[in-house]
Amino acid sequence: MRAMILRGAGEALALEQLPDPEPQRGQVLVRVIACGVCRTDLHILDGELPDLRYPIIPGHQIVGEIVALGDGVSGLSPGDRVGVPWLGWTCGECSYCRSERENLCEAAKFTGCDLDGGFAELCCCDARYCFALPAGYPALQVAPLLCGGLIGYRAYRLAGEDFSPATERAADAPRLGLYGFGSAAHMIAQVARFEGRRVFAFTRAGDSRGQAFARQLGAEWAGSSDDTPPEPLDAAIIFAPVGALVPLALKAVAPGGSVVCAGIHMSDIPSFPYRDLWRERVIRSVANLTRADGEALLALAPRVPIETTVSRYALEEVNQALDDLRAGRFDGSAVIEIAV
Ligand SMILES: [Zn+2]
Ligand SMILES: [Zn+2]
Repeated sequence: MRAMILRGAGEALALEQLPDPEPQRGQVLVRVIACGVCRTDLHILDGELPDLRYPIIPGHQIVGEIVALGDGVSGLSPGDRVGVPWLGWTCGECSYCRSERENLCEAAKFTGCDLDGGFAELCCCDARYCFALPAGYPALQVAPLLCGGLIGYRAYRLAGEDFSPATERAADAPRLGLYGFGSAAHMIAQVARFEGRRVFAFTRAGDSRGQAFARQLGAEWAGSSDDTPPEPLDAAIIFAPVGALVPLALKAVAPGGSVVCAGIHMSDIPSFPYRDLWRERVIRSVANLTRADGEALLALAPRVPIETTVSRYALEEVNQALDDLRAGRFDGSAVIEIAV
């Protein structure tokens, strides 16, 4: 198979011809149709995550078709179209796994990080972590849902119980701030609007294109991340990997509001006065996803419907896609199209 392989931190991915992988017990062999590009891929490329091992084939938002089953797999068949997310394997036995918090499993393995991922023509995936996909959703549209969408949705749901119920009067609708308006935010803004919430988008200072994109997707206000929003927020989700946004977001949320950090890596958070946290404001992180999150979002997506804005690249253009992501050259999501 052809694959884009990363041999060490700081290197470019290289296109190589590798032996076709064979599915082990509990795995399926997937022919990759499309694979989304994620900011986490940049953290892997830059060596910013703990315990990284190379070489690795990155890519963890895989849409593909099952071509073979390993031993012990039931409920899936060759020809099934599946989605494979970032969380790729869990032990199934620890207290987290047994309490539907498999996202916190200490032994978890991650697609495109600990397990070879989807920047390749073929990929072996744990059958337990293959999602059925909504019929009729094109592969290029679905791929970004499998990480940015999913982890964004988990962050959105964890933004606070008080925040959750949409009220009847539009003026009282919960106010959600999104810091960093990239792949995840452009999908979650659509979910939030669908559920009757008000969206406030924060981008890098001067990013008028990003702010216009946010307004186009239903944000009623868009500004730069050090601006004060026109009203206090009930919750804020930080997608940008910038720790300095935490105290800024905290200042923007009303008493009782939450600031949810949705990224896997962030620069250090600067200190801030306790009074900015006082009155039951909450800061929390969101790690990975559970299968329940995946099933919930993939059921909701066609109802909204979430329309992902996609820039497409060929397999050998992964480095260009990563570079464009780093430089903010596209709106929405980048997807590698591998087979049609
Ligand atoms: Zn576990
Ligand atoms: Zn990701």
